[in-house]
Amino acid sequence: MNTGKAPIYPIEPWTVTEPAFSVEDNYRNETVFALSNGYIGTRGTFEEGYDFDIKQGLEGNFINGFYESVPIRYGEWNFGFPEKSQSLLNLPNAKTTQLSLYGELLDLRVGKIESYARILNLRDGILARSFVWTSPAGKKVAVETQRLVSFSRKNIMAARFSVRPLNFDNGISLLSILDGDVENHTRTTNPLVDYGPFGRRLELVDIHVDAERMRYTGITAGSRLSVCCGCLHVLDAPGAKDGSGTYATDYEDDDFFTAYKSDRTAQSASIRYVLPANPNETVVLDKFIAYTSSLDIPESEMALFIDEETSRAARDGWEMLVEEQRAYTQRFWESADIQIDGDDMVQQGLRFNLFHIMQGAGRDGYVGMGAKGLTGEGYEGHYFWDTEIYALPFFTFTFPSIAKSLLEYRRSTLEEARARARELGHPKGAMYPWRTINGREASTYLPLGTAQYHINADVAYAFWQYLSASGDQDYAKAGAAEVLCETARVWADVGCFSEARDGKYCICCVTGPDEYTAFVDNNFYTNLMARENLKAAVHTLERLKADAPKAYKALRAKIGLEEEEPVQWQHIADNMYLPYDEKDGVYLQDDGMLMRKPWDDSRIPPEKRHLLYENYHPLYVWRQRMAKQADSILAMYLHSHLFSKEELRRNYDYYQKITLHHSSLSTCIFGILACGIGYRDEALRYFYESVRMDLDDYHENVYAGIHAANMAGAWQAVTSGFGGFRWGNGLPEFDPFLPDGWQGYTFRVFWRHSLLEISVRRGLASVRLVEGPPVTLLLCGQSCRLERPGEEARQSIV
Ligand code: BGC
Repeated sequence: MNTGKAPIYPIEPWTVTEPAFSVEDNYRNETVFALSNGYIGTRGTFEEGYDFDIKQGLEGNFINGFYESVPIRYGEWNFGFPEKSQSLLNLPNAKTTQLSLYGELLDLRVGKIESYARILNLRDGILARSFVWTSPAGKKVAVETQRLVSFSRKNIMAARFSVRPLNFDNGISLLSILDGDVENHTRTTNPLVDYGPFGRRLELVDIHVDAERMRYTGITAGSRLSVCCGCLHVLDAPGAKDGSGTYATDYEDDDFFTAYKSDRTAQSASIRYVLPANPNETVVLDKFIAYTSSLDIPESEMALFIDEETSRAARDGWEMLVEEQRAYTQRFWESADIQIDGDDMVQQGLRFNLFHIMQGAGRDGYVGMGAKGLTGEGYEGHYFWDTEIYALPFFTFTFPSIAKSLLEYRRSTLEEARARARELGHPKGAMYPWRTINGREASTYLPLGTAQYHINADVAYAFWQYLSASGDQDYAKAGAAEVLCETARVWADVGCFSEARDGKYCICCVTGPDEYTAFVDNNFYTNLMARENLKAAVHTLERLKADAPKAYKALRAKIGLEEEEPVQWQHIADNMYLPYDEKDGVYLQDDGMLMRKPWDDSRIPPEKRHLLYENYHPLYVWRQRMAKQADSILAMYLHSHLFSKEELRRNYDYYQKITLHHSSLSTCIFGILACGIGYRDEALRYFYESVRMDLDDYHENVYAGIHAANMAGAWQAVTSGFGGFRWGNGLPEFDPFLPDGWQGYTFRVFWRHSLLEISVRRGLASVRLVEGPPVTLLLCGQSCRLERPGEEARQSIV
C-alpha cells in the first residue's frame, strides 16, 4: 500500500502499538485505544488521570443510549422543529489508579521511561500497557496495566494494575478514584455540527465508598436519567493494610493532580491502598467496574445491581473475564476476518476497522450505533443513516445477531417515528429521525437534518437486506414487515404524480446524501431508494399473505392497513420519476443539478477547501454543481443489479469529476463502483483513502471519535468491491479480481445460515461452504451449487 502517508503505528497484523508515551498524540490515541462493548464505551485514557487540557485529551466514559437534553434555542422557530437536544453524556470515570512511590507520583511526563508499549490486541479485545519508569528521585518501578470492556457481560469493564518496585523498599500507595466531576466538551471540539450540552450535567444522588467498593449515583439535569457506576477492588499484595475509604478532600496535597483537589471533590470517591514495597515483588490491583442506568432498570435497584455485577465479576476473577473476551473475539473473527496476503498495511487497517465497528454497535435491541461508535463525543453520539447503509451490511453478512439488534433498535422506536411523521404532516406511516439517540429527531439544522428524508428508505433497505440475506421470514412476521410498511406509507404521501414530469411520481424539497445541496426536488438517491422501499413493502406483504395469513391479518389490523394501500405503493413504484439527462446518458442527482453553477475548485484557496461550511455561506455552497459525497452513485451501488455496466460507467465517470469527497462516507463507495466497471487502479486508490483513514488519522480529527461508516465501508470495498459480492438478485454473487500488488485475500459471508469463504489468488477465485445448508450462488457469472461443508467452487479470473 502506498498512499504517500507514513503509518503512525508499527505495521502489525493483529495489534496496534503505541511505542512511546506521547502527550502530543494523546488526544488521537485516546480514540484509537478506546474500548467498548456496544453498551459501555471508554476512551483510551491513562490510569494516571493526567490533568490534560482540552487540546491534549478528553476523559470519556459512555453508556450507549444515555443522553442529556437541553431545550434547543432557535433564532426563528418553526412548527415541528425538534425541541430538545440529545447528547451522549460523558459519565463518571473509574479507570484512574494513581501510583505513588512513597510520595512521588507516577507521572510519565517527568522522570525516565524505559521499554514503553501500549498495545491494543485486536484478536483478544484487550488493551495492555507496560513500561519501566524511574522517578525524578531515582525510584524505579515496572508497571503493567490491562483493561477490557467485557463483550460477554454488558455492564462490566475491568482493569488490572500491576506494579513491581525495582530498587526501593520504602512503600507505595495506590489511589483508585471514581470521579463524578465530568463534563461534555462536544461544543468545544465540533461547534459546527454539535449542539450541547454545556458544563456539568450530572447531579449527585449518592456516593458510597468503603474499604473495597466505590459507587456513584447521579441524575442528569435535563433528561432526568439516572446513572450508577461502581468499582470493586481486589488487591493482591503481600502484607497490605486495608485502605480506608475517603472522600477526595482527604487527599494529601503533594500526592495528587490538581484536578482532584479543591471544591470539586464532593463529586468523587477514592480508595487509597498503602503498601509496603518489596523489590521485585509484584502488587496487583484488579478493578471490576460496572455501569447501568435508569433506561435499563428502576432507579431504586441500580445500586444493588451494580454491587452484584461487580461482585460476580470479582468472584469469577480477571482471568475468567479475559478468557470470555477471547472466546467472543474468536467467534467474531471466525466469520468477520478478512485476510490479505501481500499487504500488511491494508491487513492491519482492516482489522482495526472491523474491531472498532464490532465494539461500537449496540447489542440489546434498544440502542443503535453512533457515527463515532462509543469512542468520543463527536456528533454528540448520534445515530445516523451511517448505521443502516454502511455498518449494517457488515453485520448482516458476518455477525447477524448484532445486525438484528440494530434493526430491533429501529423497530423499538417506531412509535416515535410515527409521531414524527404526524408532525411532518403525514397522516399515516413513520418517519425516522436523521439524528437521534432516543428515537426522536435531534437534528437542529433543518436543511441537513430532517430534510434528509432518505433515512426512511435507508432503514427499510437494511431490513430488506437482512430479510434477504438471513431468509429469516419469522422476522418479517415479528416486525420487519411493519417497518417496511410504515416507512412506505410516508413515501406514498410525501410526493405526487406530476404533469410537469409526464405524470410520474415526484418528491420535492428533500436533501439527499450530498450535504452540499439542500432542499432539492427529485433527488435521484431518495427517489430510487423510496421506490425500492415501496417495492420491498409490497413484496413482503405478499409473502406474508401467502405464507402466514394470520400474521398478515394481525399486521393489517395493527396498523390499519387498507387493501388498496399496497396497490397504490406498487403504482407509485412503477411510476417513480428518476431525473435523467438524455444528452450525457446519466441520472441527474436532482432536478436542479444542471442549472447550478459549474464548480471551480481553483476559486477556493486550498486551506478553505476541505470545510466549505466553515468558510462559505450555505447558499453559496448549494448553488454549485458539485457534491460533497457519493449520492447518485451510492444508490446505483446499492441497487447495482438494476443497472447495466455501461450505465454504471457513464454515471461513475460523470460523478467522479464533480464529487469532492468532503465526507468520510464517500471514497469507499466510489472505489466499489470503480471495481464493477473495471477501473481497477482507481478502485485501489479510493480504497487506500479509506482503509487506514482513522488509523493514520487522514482527516486529523480522530480525537473526536472514529468514523464508523467509513470503517465499515472499507469492509464493503473488499467484499463488494474487489470481491464483487452482490445479493440483489436473491442469491449471492461474486465476481472477484485481485488488486495489483496483493498475493491474495480471503473473506467470509453468511447467506441463509450458511457460511461461505471466498478466496482470491492470482488467476483463481474459489468459494467454499464452511458450514450450513447447501447454497446456490454465482461465481464469475457461473451458477454453482455447494451441497456439503468443505465443498468448493472455482473459477479462473483475470
Ligand atoms: C455526512 C453524513 C453523515 C454524517 C455522520 C456527515 O459529514 O455528510 O452523510 O451521516 O457526517 O457521519
